[in-house]
Amino acid sequence: MAQREIQKLKETILKEYPRLKKDDKFKFACHSGVSCFNECCGDVNIFLTPYDVLRLKNTLGISSQEFLDKYTILPIDQNQRLPVVLLKMQDNEKKTCYFVSKEGCTVYENRPWACRMYPLGLASPGELAANLNEEFYFILKESVCKGFNENREWTVREWIEDQGIAEYDKFGEMYKQIYTHPYLEKAPELTPQKIDMFFLACYNLDKFRDFILHSTFLQKFDVEDDLLEKIKTDDEELLKFGFRWVRFALFGEKTIDIKDDVKAMAEKKLEEKRRKTAK
Ligand code: SF4
Ligand code: SF4
Repeated sequence: MAQREIQKLKETILKEYPRLKKDDKFKFACHSGVSCFNECCGDVNIFLTPYDVLRLKNTLGISSQEFLDKYTILPIDQNQRLPVVLLKMQDNEKKTCYFVSKEGCTVYENRPWACRMYPLGLASPGELAANLNEEFYFILKESVCKGFNENREWTVREWIEDQGIAEYDKFGEMYKQIYTHPYLEKAPELTPQKIDMFFLACYNLDKFRDFILHSTFLQKFDVEDDLLEKIKTDDEELLKFGFRWVRFALFGEKTIDIKDDVKAMAEKKLEEKRRKTAK
C-alpha cells in the first residue's frame, strides 16, 4: 500500500469506523472450513514490531540478520522518523506470505501481532493522529473475508485473550514509548548513525548482542552482572535492554549508566575545552 493510501485509510478510520472498547462485541470466526481460508495471507501489508521479529526468527531457528534479509522489506517513507519493517510477500501472482501453507499459517504460534489481531485494529494516540486522545479498537472488514458470516460472538477483550496478544502488547507498550517519543516530534532529523543504532537494538538483536559483548560497550557502560548474564542468552531481556539503549542513545534519557571513570574523563575533556575557548 502506498504511503498516500495508508494516510487515507488512517483518515477514514478516524472519521468513519465505529470505535470499540474492550467489552464491545463482534461476530467472527476463522477456521480451515471457511471458503476464503488462506485468502488473507497474501498481498498484505504486515508491519513487524521488534517482538514479532524476535519470535519469528527464533521459531525459524535463524539469526535476526538472516530473517531481516530474507523476509522483510524496509519501505522508505519520508514522513517516518524511524524505519518501519514490513513482512515481505513472495514474488508470485498472489504475492503469498512466505509462511502460508495449504494447512494454514506455518508459524501460527509465533505469528505477528497484526495477524493475531485481525479482524481488529487498534488506533493509538500519537500513532494514528496527533489529536487522538484515547485509543480505540475497530473492525477491519476485508471484502474477501467470510469470517464475519460465522455465528461466533466475541468481546474485544475475549478476542485479545484468545489470540495470545497480551505477551505481544507487553513489548508493544515499551516500543510505543520509542516511536511516539516527543523527541521525534521536536528534534531535527535523526542522523544515519542514530537510525542504525535504533535498527540494531530493536530489530537486529543477534548483532546487538555482539555489539554489547564484543565492542568497547562494557568498558563504557555499567550493566548489572545478573542482567549481563541474562542478555547473553535471553532475547527478551536483550530486547528490553535494547529499548533502554535506544532511549539513552537517541533521546538522551538516563536509562543506561555511564561508568564513573568514563564520565570523569568526559568531564575533564569538557573542562579543558572550556578553558581553551575562554583564553
Ligand atoms: S504470518 Fe501466518 S497468519 Fe500472517 S500472513 Fe503469513 S501465513 Fe498468514
Ligand atoms: S479471509 Fe478471514 S475468514 Fe478467511 S482465512 Fe482470512 S481471516 Fe480467516
